[in-house]
Amino acid sequence: MIVLSLVKTKGVIIKSIDYKENDKLIWAYTEEVGKITFIARGAKKSKSKNLSITLPLCFGEYVFFKGKNLYNLQEGKILNSFQGLLNNLDKLTYSSYICELIDICVQEGEINKLLFRDFITCLYLLNTDAMDYELLVRAFELRLLKATGYGLQFDNCSLCKKKIATAEYISLSHYGGVCIECKKEHGLHVSKAAYNALRFLNNTPMDKIYRLNITTEIKKQIERVTTFIINSNYSKKPKSLEMLNYIKE
Ligand SMILES: [Zn+2]
Repeated sequence: MIVLSLVKTKGVIIKSIDYKENDKLIWAYTEEVGKITFIARGAKKSKSKNLSITLPLCFGEYVFFKGKNLYNLQEGKILNSFQGLLNNLDKLTYSSYICELIDICVQEGEINKLLFRDFITCLYLLNTDAMDYELLVRAFELRLLKATGYGLQFDNCSLCKKKIATAEYISLSHYGGVCIECKKEHGLHVSKAAYNALRFLNNTPMDKIYRLNITTEIKKQIERVTTFIINSNYSKKPKSLEMLNYIKE
C-alpha cells in the first residue's frame, strides 16, 4: 500500500524553470514546510489550471503530496497574485530581490513562520505606493539576517556587551555596534544617524517603518552594511539589485 503524505500550506512562488515537455520545476517559500521544490504537472500549457497558480510571486494556498524526492502540486488557489508588482520596474526588482534572498539564504525545509509572515508583509507593502521601497527591503534584509543566525545587535556593544545609546562603528565579525572604548576592527564606520536608522529598521514592525525619513547618503551607508553581511555570509551573492543600481546611475 502506498501512503501519500499530503501537505496543505500557504506559500509564495519564488523561482521556476521549465521541466520536461509540459511541466515546471518550482521553488516556493511556504508557511508550514519552509522552502520547498515541487513539480507542477502541465504548468507550461496555457490551458492548465496549474499555470496561473505557479507564476512567480504568486501567493496562494497549496496542497502538495510528497513523492520519492520532490513534492508534487495537487491543487492550489490564489490568495494574491501580486501581478501588480510586475508593472513597475522598482517594485519588480525589489520583489525579485527578496525572493532571491529567500532562495539564497534559507535552507530547504527550514521552517520559520515569523520570517514567512515578514516576507508576505513585505510583498503587500511593495504592492502599495505608500512606502519607501528601499527602506522596506533593508528592513527585510535585517529580519532575514536575524532569522538565519546573523542578526545585528544594536542596543549593546557587540564586543564588551555594555549598553549603548548609539554608535559610529559596526563590527562585521561580531555582528553589531561597537562602543567608544572597544577596538574598531573588521567593520564599517557609519554616522550616528545611519546607526540609529539601522536600529529603527531592525526593531520596528515593517508596517511602521514609513515613519523613518532619511537622506540618500544615510540610505547608502545602511545599504553598505547589509550588503556586506549578506555577500560575506551566504554561499551566493544576490544579483537582482544590480540592474536597478545600473539604471539609477
Ligand atoms: Zn564595548
